[in-house]
Amino acid sequence: MSRYPYLLFDADNTLFDFTAAERIAFRRTCEKNSLPWSEENYTTYKEINAALWADFDRGLYEKSFVVVERFRRLLAHLGIEGDADACMQVQEDTLGECSMLIDGAETLCRKLSETHKLYLVTNAVAAVQKRRLAASAIKQYLSGAFISEDAGAAKPSTAYFDYVFSRIDGITRENCLVIGDSLTSDIKGANNYGLPCVWYNPAGKPQPEGYHADYIIRDLDELYAIIDD
Ligand SMILES: [Mg+2]
Repeated sequence: MSRYPYLLFDADNTLFDFTAAERIAFRRTCEKNSLPWSEENYTTYKEINAALWADFDRGLYEKSFVVVERFRRLLAHLGIEGDADACMQVQEDTLGECSMLIDGAETLCRKLSETHKLYLVTNAVAAVQKRRLAASAIKQYLSGAFISEDAGAAKPSTAYFDYVFSRIDGITRENCLVIGDSLTSDIKGANNYGLPCVWYNPAGKPQPEGYHADYIIRDLDELYAIIDD
């Protein structure tokens, strides 16, 4: 019996290659909304987006605000009069179509699903995430997916994990493992709820103060050893 029979995986940039999906979506958003595409503009968008989602993780904004506001700020930054709502729509529609996975994620899920219960714990936009999940190669290996919008609460809040725990028979704070790339939502969420966690840190970023990861991995394959431990 594994020490962690219940595995709670973050979706974006943990199993799904969100970086690739986002790039494709942003390019199409530019094309359809007469925005000039350039690496520089994309970098600006990513900075604006990351700052807004960090504020979302701190509970400052609603998701529905964030997804439009990022384009409002980008348009203002570029000095372009444009329709932020229309940009958001193309971005979200395209993301919903992009279900490419991180290298190794499909094999990992297939192998682990033979001996473990796998769940997704994700803060993504529900409509987008459900489409991507339905089209993805890993759907068949998951026992469930918990999307914050459905839960009425998001990582890192304890209310979100209350929702998850109320829907998984047999899970305890000791027998599950949270696996995610985000310190502010995944690791903080696990810390807030008292759950063991793995920080998936492929870039090898330094670990800042204030977060406790029981394990840090740079490659998803390293999970096998942790789980068999
Ligand atoms: Mg993530």
